[in-house]
Amino acid sequence: MASKMPAAIDSNKRRITISMAENSDYESTLECEFCDAKVIFVNGFTREEGDKIISVNPYFRLKASNTHGSECKYNVEGQVKLIVRESEGNVLAQTESGKFELRLLAVKKAINELQNLAKKKKNSESDNKKETKEKEYIKSEKKLGSYINSALRVLKVRSFCEENKDIENLLELVFDGVRLPWKDFYYEDKEFFRCYSNVRKATVTVPVAIIGVVKSIRTIDGKNGKFSVVNLAGPYRKTDKKDTLDSVNVSIWSPDFELFESYKVDDVLLAFGIFDASKVSEKSNKSSTSSVNKFRNHDLRLWPISKSQLCKVNG
Ligand SMILES: [Zn+2]
Repeated sequence: MASKMPAAIDSNKRRITISMAENSDYESTLECEFCDAKVIFVNGFTREEGDKIISVNPYFRLKASNTHGSECKYNVEGQVKLIVRESEGNVLAQTESGKFELRLLAVKKAINELQNLAKKKKNSESDNKKETKEKEYIKSEKKLGSYINSALRVLKVRSFCEENKDIENLLELVFDGVRLPWKDFYYEDKEFFRCYSNVRKATVTVPVAIIGVVKSIRTIDGKNGKFSVVNLAGPYRKTDKKDTLDSVNVSIWSPDFELFESYKVDDVLLAFGIFDASKVSEKSNKSSTSSVNKFRNHDLRLWPISKSQLCKVNG
């Protein structure tokens, strides 16, 4: 089982971060932060994959023939078993074959239910009623949040894996009785275009998970008030026109400014929920030094209803 790690321990017992490793500021041999498995540093790089320009972030990975200890947080099987044991309700379950499954319909229902409660809370007129609704909401948020949280914990384990196959042999995704491949549920930045087209053409909305690097956190003054907006860095794609590039913009919106308070630029963020994909729109490029005049933007948006739909993966 391969894991990508954001830090390691060197032979002087110092905690080595990615930026330290990039500057060769460590003594070999490197070990996992949480067990004695040997690890190595993999440098980041950019590459062209078909018509896509993608960058791979640097990370630490297991050295060949090493495995993480059974209690280590990078041990995929151990972690999934732990999450299943600690999860509430029937959102995670063991199947007859001994594998585990994550039931996405239960998670979708939990998200929808919270959304409805939030609307009701907002629309209730008298202060008296408001208080009751508030209490009802907090109670439900706790219960539904624990469903969403179980899903998010599983996703966090996936985010440590190098590939889908590291987790899909162990944990299956099921939506309304149908099995869903991990590649259609969990998207890293190089897969944002595919995520956009899947969300755009979906006839039934399924929650998906997106993981990416925070590019900016801004306040936007909208028609209906102020919003806090997190943008993730996305890949570009060549088009048949030389001066035009395809771009994909993943953003997370909230009127609740506290929701993004603990995040900053360059954090690796995992966002999970029902995303909206709006029609492709053209934008001119403001940079005068570039030969690219236009972007064809593919917009993916999430309005999280609960803070359990987001988490930081690095650090
Ligand atoms: Zn380990």
